[in-house]
Amino acid sequence: MKIPVYMDNLATTPVDPRVLEAMLPYFSEKFGNAASRNHAFGWEAEAAVDEAREQIAQLIHAASAREVIFTGGATESDNLAIKGVAEAYKEKGNHIITCVTEHRAVLDSCKALERKGCQVTYLRVNPFGLVDVGQLRQALTDKTILISIMAANNEIGTIQPVQEIGRVAKEKGVIFHCDATQGVGKIPMDVEEMGIDLLSMSAHKIYGPKGVGALYVRSKRPKVRLHPIIDGGGHERGMRSGTLNVPGIVGLGKACQIAQQELPEEAARLTELRERLKDGILRQLDEVYINGHPTERLPGNLNVSFAYVEGESLMMGLKEIALSSGSACTSTSLEPSYVLRALGVREDLAHTAIRFGVGRFNTDEEVDYAIQRVKEEVTRLRQLSPLYGLAKADLRGRQQGELKAQDRVS
Ligand SMILES: *Cc1c(COP(=O)(O)O)cnc(C)c1O
Repeated sequence: MKIPVYMDNLATTPVDPRVLEAMLPYFSEKFGNAASRNHAFGWEAEAAVDEAREQIAQLIHAASAREVIFTGGATESDNLAIKGVAEAYKEKGNHIITCVTEHRAVLDSCKALERKGCQVTYLRVNPFGLVDVGQLRQALTDKTILISIMAANNEIGTIQPVQEIGRVAKEKGVIFHCDATQGVGKIPMDVEEMGIDLLSMSAHKIYGPKGVGALYVRSKRPKVRLHPIIDGGGHERGMRSGTLNVPGIVGLGKACQIAQQELPEEAARLTELRERLKDGILRQLDEVYINGHPTERLPGNLNVSFAYVEGESLMMGLKEIALSSGSACTSTSLEPSYVLRALGVREDLAHTAIRFGVGRFNTDEEVDYAIQRVKEEVTRLRQLSPLYGLAKADLRGRQQGELKAQDRVS
């Protein structure tokens, strides 16, 4: 076992060796520009891009590979989907519905649109992180042009009722964008069955390279129109200009192909590892709280709060394991995660939340090591905590009190 152990696979993943192997020729001998129509170098690159489009389309069950647009990652895909729809449909309406626990790429795109006169409804979530489809229905107005709800949350792993949301969107003739960056390749995603019109994804969350992603854009029933954010040579059917990142795209395609072949097995294995981690921690420690949904959650995600420890000290003490505190995206600030706050997690518990992201290359041995280290570190910090000592003394006192009371009754 190599130390440090990487267990932050929801922040990013290592490139799968099979993905790297597929990419390598496109840096060297197959270096052509996919937009070069006049020679074999261009045709070769274009063929590779087309194959990747096909691999992605198959994984998400798109009717046609032409519906896949390449981008520089899911942040760009989210921006293009939300801002692109807002601009293209501004004659129809200016109202967008999203959710408070979405990724910053979605929330900040919505915030930018609010400054330009759009109305945005931010749906709240229940204590498990789920949106209420009834509330979604009520939020719709005749000015609603877009619903943007993610497939699975990057911090707490909660999986949203995507198919029901898609059904509501279809009923009302509203476009449905789904940030499926954490869902694709980890849980079954089917744009037809789920009624998804726009779907964001990213290669580096599924064992592909960083800086490349895709946006699925439905072309039939309905044909979704998008206003581009990047103007230029008219690549990607005019929706995203710029010379294509051929090696990156080949890597994304290969990552999708592997994910599709291995999804059922991998999801089962990661769920097992996640449960082993959870049960191990719960067996060794008291005052531990699981954040997110007990069952509707990503296979490799575990988010736990430890009462009576200081979050920063805990992370510092666990340097042999690469983990995220609360959220990868807010870990630069001392603010607790907005996602945990939206669930109603107590402030002190939000501060001590740790996100484990178990992935393809983690082993049983690494999970057992993580359990052991977490147990040692939490125990050590609690021994230094006067509050924990008091709470334990109080608990013992109450238990003894109850025993005495029982004596009196009997
Ligand atoms: C990582 C992530 C993004 C951003 O993807 P990048 O490719 O890193 O820009 C967006 N949404 C979700 C849910 C994510 O997990």
